[in-house]
Amino acid sequence: MQPSLEKLRKFFRLEHENKYQNTAIIGGLAKMLDYWEGEARADGITEEVIQAVVSRLRSYEKISPDGRAESLKGLWKRIGETYPEAGQKPKQAQQPQQQKPPAQETKSESRQESAPRPAQQQQKPRQNPPPRSEAVVGAKHSQTPAALGAALTVLQGVGPRNAEALEKLGLQTLGDMLYYFPRRYEDYSQLKPIQSLMYNDVVTVLGTVQSVHTRPIRGGKSSMIEVIIGDGTGSLRISYFNQPWLSNRFKEGEAISVSGKIDQYLGRLVMNSPDWEPVEVENLHTNRIVPIYSLTERITQKWLRNQMNSVITYWAPAVVDALPETIRRAAQLVSLGEALTQVHFPDSQARLQLARERLGFDEIFYLQMGVLRQKRDWKSVDGRRFSVSDEWLGARLGALPFTLTSAQLTSFDDIRKDLDSGKPMNRLVQGDVGSGKTVVAALGASIVVSGGAQAAIMAPTSILAEQHYRNFINLLAGDGGMMQQSEIRLLVGNTTESEKEAIRQGLQEGSIKIVIGTHAVIEPDVLFKDLQFVVIDEQHRFGVEQRAELRSKGTNPHLLVMTATPIPRSLALTVFGDLDISVIDVMPEGRQPVTTFVLRPQERERAYTLIRGQIKNGNQAFIVYPLIDESEKIDARAAVDDFETLSKQVFPDLTLGLLHGRMKPGEKDEVMLKFRDKEFDILVSTTVIEVGVDVPNSTVMLIEGADRFGLAQLHQLRGRVGRGSVQSTCLLIPTHEDATENERLQAMAVTNSGFELADLDLKLRGPGEFLGTRQAGYATTLKMASITDVKLIEKAREQAQALFERDPDLSQPEHALLAEAFERFWGAGKGDVS
Ligand code: ADP
Ligand code: MG
Repeated sequence: MQPSLEKLRKFFRLEHENKYQNTAIIGGLAKMLDYWEGEARADGITEEVIQAVVSRLRSYEKISPDGRAESLKGLWKRIGETYPEAGQKPKQAQQPQQQKPPAQETKSESRQESAPRPAQQQQKPRQNPPPRSEAVVGAKHSQTPAALGAALTVLQGVGPRNAEALEKLGLQTLGDMLYYFPRRYEDYSQLKPIQSLMYNDVVTVLGTVQSVHTRPIRGGKSSMIEVIIGDGTGSLRISYFNQPWLSNRFKEGEAISVSGKIDQYLGRLVMNSPDWEPVEVENLHTNRIVPIYSLTERITQKWLRNQMNSVITYWAPAVVDALPETIRRAAQLVSLGEALTQVHFPDSQARLQLARERLGFDEIFYLQMGVLRQKRDWKSVDGRRFSVSDEWLGARLGALPFTLTSAQLTSFDDIRKDLDSGKPMNRLVQGDVGSGKTVVAALGASIVVSGGAQAAIMAPTSILAEQHYRNFINLLAGDGGMMQQSEIRLLVGNTTESEKEAIRQGLQEGSIKIVIGTHAVIEPDVLFKDLQFVVIDEQHRFGVEQRAELRSKGTNPHLLVMTATPIPRSLALTVFGDLDISVIDVMPEGRQPVTTFVLRPQERERAYTLIRGQIKNGNQAFIVYPLIDESEKIDARAAVDDFETLSKQVFPDLTLGLLHGRMKPGEKDEVMLKFRDKEFDILVSTTVIEVGVDVPNSTVMLIEGADRFGLAQLHQLRGRVGRGSVQSTCLLIPTHEDATENERLQAMAVTNSGFELADLDLKLRGPGEFLGTRQAGYATTLKMASITDVKLIEKAREQAQALFERDPDLSQPEHALLAEAFERFWGAGKGDVS
């Protein structure tokens, strides 16, 4: 054994003999670190082991003798993992506790004498007493699912009061507990010493608070708390912006763990606003991955963890695995019992990963089964047939002010076939901003109208609804058009009451054929004579319920949803698995691609010069900011603050409009319309202009704080320009010069294709950004599966598809358990998915 380890062993033994009074070394065990670290490095001891020793000995004096015994014991085990020859514990330290460990543990420890086993197996959660209710215990062996429905009061230590508190966390039954996954973990087996941290690491760091400072910034308008923590290898600065109350929560000398991303500031590594918590001293010594649960009042982490421990230890292995063995094997998944155990009390990162994969698989699998079933159910009802002749269609297309692109034609052809299929259409048209989705929807509507029925189009904002309205009038009621202008109407929030009344009446009698509007269209008093075609534009802005509501205003109407969000196909099939998909992946001809530049903040003047030039040519510009005002976050240039400077100092001779999220909807519309009508040269705005607004005359999009936007948002914003035939420019200025190399910004400069960017974003950080929460819809109810895990999704989708083909209703006897689990999954409030 290496001399430095031998030395440790000697002192640990001495310390045991001294009854853990921290007297083995004068001045305390931590004193030996002064020289031991150097010796250990000289012995070639691994950095992890050194850090484990350092962190434990450093906190050693602060803990009770019992805790110390456990700490040294745990530490020695940890060393044994890397250095089996040291794996044998110092004889006396082996059973330092007064209490006799349970028989099981003794056994595993004696086995360990000969062959050291990985720490994980020795660190099994301690067995708590089993639940006290006899009925439940009896049920365990026969019918686990029923037993899992037992109320939490069957647990020792959970009375009505605690049960009530747990209910606030959504926990009512034992089964709920099994599926109440940790919010995160503290991995005390893999702590990273401060000196080996790297820029961009996402890590947990353990350290002692060395100093806490609060300093005013921005002339006292805001404040910054800086906490320095140290772990013996170095120190790390963590900072919190505008959270002054935190300052007295950090205590010098206290051990805390912080989790977050390592950032860089003036060349030093820092963490900005990391999650943090005081370290529970006993965890420090367990050497394992500790679950951290979300809490509520009256429930402590420690208490909940103990309860979880007893539930998991006792119940998880007994859970019946509904997934057929064949599927489990084909998809290479661990059993449900193993997964539930490991997700709460992981023995290692690897087993945790397998557990997450299994649980994530289940979610996607059940989701996909449901989506497939829904699709089948929708197809099982009849849809009215609408068909038109080629001549009729030729006349329509001939009346359009432009020729459709090949992609528009293909998508429209899909729609035309759906309308004549005898089944209700459920189609998603996906196409980049400006690809021309509106005209495709309008043509669809025209077929239905020619068949004597009605159509409704719902858009997320009144500006957009109005834009569609004008487009529909142009496309369908212009020269050579098939409709009267009065048959197409606009219904938005601020439509006058008398006009609303007229529209309601017209829709009910059938004299109005197409209504275009906002949420106003789904109000209960809007009734249709014969609604057969429903279009939802920018569908991610709507909830599932709103779509269902509009649909319910007709009898099995044909549904068309449109999105500018380019989603890679594998994801679309899951997230929109119940819809058929058409893609418009070609831009109309004559469109000049937008040229994109990334500028350094110092080069801002160049951007202004370019804007002046464009405005001189009669064009307009957008300047977009990430946030409304400066108090919200550090360093983001803010629209409201900069608006003054821009209009008074930078562009005193031009007219500027201001648009931001705190304005009332009416005010926003007014500003937007004024901009469209060229009353402003420049629109200074937050991201509220994001959605599909068409101002072809604007040719410059300047985005400040560009590094703070996701790729999807940047791309959407850029789509606001380049809608006319004049060459447009998009200028990206990041907050800090460092960020000019930002991969996302560079990608923007390289490609104009939303699909390429979506793929890239997926690679860089998962599709969350492109999907957005609402668009992801029911996918947001996934607790474990991340929609970022394309491989897992593929796997689960394939298995679900295959099973669905064999046994769509899960009616075969070998699928009985699965059918039950499926009902449970979908029973939990996941109704109409689209
Ligand atoms: P989006 O797909 O973003 O909803 P729109 O339907 O608003 O796009 O179309 C953007 C602009 O392109 C509109 O001004 C529309 O009139 C025009 N447009 C659509 N299709 C074509 C085409 N095939 N050729 C030329 N211009 C087109
Ligand atoms: Mg659109």
